[in-house]
Amino acid sequence: MTTELTHFIAGKHVKGTSGRFLDVYNPTLGEVQAKSPLATADEMRSAIAAAQKAFPEWAAQNPQKRARVMFKFKELVEKNMDELAAMLSREHGKVISDSKGDIQRGLEVIEFACGIPHLMKGDFSEGAGPGIDMYSMRQPLGVVAGITPFNFPAMIPMWMFGVAIACGNTFICKPSEKDPSVPLRLAELMMEAGAPAGVLNVVIGDKEAVDTILTDPRIQAVSFVGSTNIASYVYATAAANGKRVQAMGGAKNHMIIMPDANLDQVADALIGAGYGSAGERCMAISVAVPVGDAVADALIERLKPRVEALRVGPSNDPDSDYGPMVSAEHLAKVKGYVDLGVKEGAKLLVDGRDFKLQGYEKGYFMGGCLFDNVTRDMRIYKEEIFGPVLSIVRAQSFDEAIDLPSTHEYGNGVAIYTSDGDAARDFASRVQAGMVGINVPIPVPLAYHSFGGWKRSAFGDTNQHGTEGVKFYTKIKTVTSRWPTGIRAGAEFSIPTMK
Ligand code: NAD
Repeated sequence: MTTELTHFIAGKHVKGTSGRFLDVYNPTLGEVQAKSPLATADEMRSAIAAAQKAFPEWAAQNPQKRARVMFKFKELVEKNMDELAAMLSREHGKVISDSKGDIQRGLEVIEFACGIPHLMKGDFSEGAGPGIDMYSMRQPLGVVAGITPFNFPAMIPMWMFGVAIACGNTFICKPSEKDPSVPLRLAELMMEAGAPAGVLNVVIGDKEAVDTILTDPRIQAVSFVGSTNIASYVYATAAANGKRVQAMGGAKNHMIIMPDANLDQVADALIGAGYGSAGERCMAISVAVPVGDAVADALIERLKPRVEALRVGPSNDPDSDYGPMVSAEHLAKVKGYVDLGVKEGAKLLVDGRDFKLQGYEKGYFMGGCLFDNVTRDMRIYKEEIFGPVLSIVRAQSFDEAIDLPSTHEYGNGVAIYTSDGDAARDFASRVQAGMVGINVPIPVPLAYHSFGGWKRSAFGDTNQHGTEGVKFYTKIKTVTSRWPTGIRAGAEFSIPTMK
């Protein structure tokens, strides 16, 4: 049976009125299981109005009270973990353990946000002048919005609304229309945790809903995560409309493998980071760069049988290494890239294009693919594939290996495997990417650090979560006060200075 999903506005489920829908699939079965209503501009405006109404009271709560809501929300999400993970796997296709990881990484941002009384503490300078004290405080912005991708339907909304709401803002989440059920459920749990109606709203939609967010003057800040072309559009449009914006885009993450690396460890790391979640992660490793042909050959010897033996299966089967791709369209796109790689002259060592899962023939499954002899000029190297496809680009020196990720258009994550501390330190210092792993394949920073790439992987200058997130969702006010007022300095016609 196909369920019609709803929006969640002012604490209530609201049926969509546009008459426009997008099918939500169960990718394991290859069947439609729900319909996402695509909001009209008016529906989005009604959510903005609800958030605006809720703002003054929520912002005026003392931060400890807001933190208590976050504590309660964390407890409720933990209590509902199994239900949320099953829901997430059913719509997205990632395996249950990975869905739990997606939720857990979001919860870690909620745990961080529980410290908001401390995080929002201001600065105070006593006696900055005669009888003068100066202090700075952080205040929330107002109504803020987050536009999120399909691939982390729990973690990425929580990156954004966890910090935004704790800071005292009210929030509109515009989740991916491909898998919006988890964000909707999280909004219900936020209300159950004690957030007043209108503090967290979820409006499902496409370009019409997004454009309303980007242009409505009541929205103060926009956080976006998705593909690069849309990130760049969101950044330019929201900024032109006077909003604060952070917009994270696509990626092509390299792993450099030095001759002194432990190749068994490298093979484990590449299998997990390259093929986990069917490669549909912005921090997936999609390019392996062995330094020297001997390293490349020894690595392939270990890697090839592992890729051939990947267990591709239903998302709810605990024995699956990874599940189906999110949609038939995305599966076709990824297979198209493999066809292209063959045409471009790369050597396809493992071909997973024809993989079919018995009993699930309609599911969007794809076997792991492994390319060797990929070169810089190929489109399969330059463009993000976002599937279970790993490309080996052979480098002949350490400098050439650093140059590859550094000159690539994307600069999200990068990793190096080595037992040489000097090389690792030099690499971390020189490489042009925002997040670096040293013998760590997926260096996603923890909640109290902050997440963000460089170059065309991120637009704007503030990262997600951590203290950067608190800065993004607050503005500073600085007060200069003079007490007692009896001190007379006389009229001053020049700019006051500290003589
Ligand atoms: P997407 O860009 O298609 O969609 C992201 C959001 O933008 C969705 O909410 C979608 O509804 C909206 N959108 C899509 N087309 C739009 C348009 N024309 N105008 C306005 N809004 C539009 O991305 P996706 O396929 O959902 O997610 C995968 C992409 O996200 C990959 O490129 C991946 O690298 C990237 N990603 C990046 C990060 C990061 O932090 N850098 C994290 C996760 C995913």
